[in-house]
Amino acid sequence: MSDQPTVLVVEDEAAQREVLSYNLEAEGFRVQRAENGEEALLLVEEGAPDVIVLDWMLPNVSGIEVCRQLKMRSDTRGVPIIMLSARSEEVDRVRGLETGADDYVVKPYSVIELMARVRAQLRRTRPASVGERLEFEDIVLDADTHRVTRADNQLKLGPTEFRLLSTFMEKPGRVWSREQLLDRVWGRDIYVDTRTVDVHIGRLRKALCQFGGADPLRTVRGAGYALG
Ligand code: CA
Repeated sequence: MSDQPTVLVVEDEAAQREVLSYNLEAEGFRVQRAENGEEALLLVEEGAPDVIVLDWMLPNVSGIEVCRQLKMRSDTRGVPIIMLSARSEEVDRVRGLETGADDYVVKPYSVIELMARVRAQLRRTRPASVGERLEFEDIVLDADTHRVTRADNQLKLGPTEFRLLSTFMEKPGRVWSREQLLDRVWGRDIYVDTRTVDVHIGRLRKALCQFGGADPLRTVRGAGYALG
């Protein structure tokens, strides 16, 4: 069970791929590995990761091409891409090509710096996953201390309800299907019935209203759930 962010590492050199993956896993990220562009595109097809670390120099389909393809698609456009490049002149070229990459790192890079860049992207797209404080109306969620308050009352939430709420609070108004919530909150490798989602949504609603206040969760018929 996890809402750990998933990082896709696309790097053809095995040793570099492993060092990077090892460090990302040590930081608590789930890591997907791809050794070329085709494999990366296939993995993204199965479910978009939260961040992609993409080497520029790859056999066949280059990192630039992968980046361009992903940034053209509406379902993957929002996934942050950090491009790795061997030389700073390449970075200039990559920038000039306007591939839409969100950040660029020149090799050899320090692992610490790369981790900071990954977290910086997540702070923007998955703030709760890197310990940020989220607010929605009178609800405050502190991902660092795992505390949730509503109108200054501290709420008691189970771990699953906490992950559900942080998912909703990262993107208020967004409608999540049950399948998307399963992927995000339970993890896509675990088999859980979609009705389980409804059960935990029910518990979350109860927890959110334990000191009164209107139910902030909206059931969208045939689509799923949204906050606000
Ligand atoms: Ca390479």
